[in-house]
Amino acid sequence: MTAMTELLTTIEAVRDAADSARARGARVGLVPTMGYLHEGHRSLLRAAAAECDFVIATIFVNPLQFGPSEDLDRYPRDLDADLAACRAEGVHVVFAPSVEEMYPSAPPATTVHVARLTERMCGAHRPGHFDGVTTVVAKLFAITGSCRAYFGRKDAQQLAVIAQMARDLDFPVEVVGCPLVREADGLALSSRNAYLTPAERAVAPNLFRALDDARASVATGDVDAARIVAFVRSRIEAEPRFTIDYVECVDPDTLEPVARIDRPALLALAARLGATRLIDNMVVAPDPPTANP
Ligand code: AMP
Repeated sequence: MTAMTELLTTIEAVRDAADSARARGARVGLVPTMGYLHEGHRSLLRAAAAECDFVIATIFVNPLQFGPSEDLDRYPRDLDADLAACRAEGVHVVFAPSVEEMYPSAPPATTVHVARLTERMCGAHRPGHFDGVTTVVAKLFAITGSCRAYFGRKDAQQLAVIAQMARDLDFPVEVVGCPLVREADGLALSSRNAYLTPAERAVAPNLFRALDDARASVATGDVDAARIVAFVRSRIEAEPRFTIDYVECVDPDTLEPVARIDRPALLALAARLGATRLIDNMVVAPDPPTANP
């Protein structure tokens, strides 16, 4: 599908575009990204185009969500390729602001902090990361106004945090979670996969395989979360190139650890492979799931 895709760089222009779309009766869809779009991002754009009349994709490498020793400077960027992908997916507006447009006074005086959900998992390993995410997404929600906003389950903790923020702050935004998209060999698609050397790329799907084998174990009756986590850790550690940040088995909504997997649980992990930090997750469930009381 082709659409007229407009590249906008100012907050005012995007706000006007969203307001005019709604005034015409259009349902607005928002897809926030950091660009270098791949099939995972494109699946969000397609979901938005299927369910909304006017799709806004944002491309902004948000400095606020990177720690001082993280990869902000080398994060991959290719605006021309991103525009072509957005055009092909029927996106109406690409919002690609400068850092100055988003943060005229850097760092901003006001930030958004979601408590509890951000304390574990990636939040424990990347101090300040989720405050950066929620601050930029709150701004994008405020700029766009009433809309459906699409986020991938690849970043399961991020999705839970943003959904909580939208509820707590009464944003007129329906947060929509979309399925995690993988390569044919199971590796979760990520812009950061571009950092992997060929040797690292060859072992990167081990993360998926560890999760998938754990999923099979849970489905056949091993519902002890500590044992499942230990199993995943040992499968990953069998390849010495990996350093595990965390492996956790948590409730998919509250992200609180579960001890017994008697209903669907989120098995989530982060691991470093050379200089690249990878995350992955899978929902695991006993088969058949124990009925809720
Ligand atoms: P990012 O550009 O990494 O900030 O990601 C932008 C959006 O795309 C987020 O909502 C991500 O969860 C989503 N996304 C990234 N990779 C994938 C994937 N492999 N499958 C599904 N969604 C993804």
